[in-house]
Amino acid sequence: DTDADQPTLQVPKSPQEISELGHVFNELLKTQNKRLQRERDFVSNASHELKTPIAAIRGNINLIKRHGDKHPDVIPESLGFIDEESLRMQNLIKNLLDLSRADRAELILKDVDFSKLAQNIGTQYQKTIAQHLKLEIEPNLHISGNDDTLKQIIVALLDNANKYSSEDKPITLSLKEVDGKARLDIADLGIGIPDDQKSLIFQRFYRVDVSHSTEIKGSGLGLSIVSQLVKLNNGTIEVLDNQPCGSIFRVWF
Ligand code: ADP
Repeated sequence: DTDADQPTLQVPKSPQEISELGHVFNELLKTQNKRLQRERDFVSNASHELKTPIAAIRGNINLIKRHGDKHPDVIPESLGFIDEESLRMQNLIKNLLDLSRADRAELILKDVDFSKLAQNIGTQYQKTIAQHLKLEIEPNLHISGNDDTLKQIIVALLDNANKYSSEDKPITLSLKEVDGKARLDIADLGIGIPDDQKSLIFQRFYRVDVSHSTEIKGSGLGLSIVSQLVKLNNGTIEVLDNQPCGSIFRVWF
């Protein structure tokens, strides 16, 4: 037998090398622990968010079972709750799936007529959801990107602008070339975002307090999905204050 082919174990030679290796190992452990903690937080947040609608659905089913016969008047209201809460759960699950897909995906980017895409989505959105949407789109802006996810980004930002402002205040979608890049702005005149919360809103499940208290429904996942998708399209996203109030979500490609 010869052990000439066996891999040889690299033994650190000096105390300094040993201490350097120890340091590298500790850093690796720290990164790993942080990732594990983030994953644990994510699972516990997701479970918590799913528990709430399920409890409401089960509560209302029990109510109908126990009192539906004698008090049929409870039925429509309970069915209304069940309808609403199951829809909330459906949306949440859709968001969770989007997020896990965006986490793993690598997109094939190709030439996209971004002006045409934004114009189409904007016109459709005006017709079906928000007549108060204004479009200011420079023609013929091309970027390298992926149609479906670009569309998803625009719709999610329009949905938020619509959700966090009132119908009598216009929302604006503008697209123009600035410094050789395409700049997409989705601006509203709504409740705005305090400075100290601006970096936090892109984190998973994060919601600004005021959106809880004003009963605007949401999971806090929308913007984390948007920022993943922006990254996959090689873009960047930031949020600014609009004048005299509200926010501008600005995406650069
Ligand atoms: P969701 O809207 O489901 O709560 P998002 O991830 O889309 O989750 O947004 C996170 C938080 O950022 C929201 O809860 C809200 O507090 C804030 N936010 C997002 N968009 C706007 C906006 N256009 N105006 C004001 N606040 C916003």
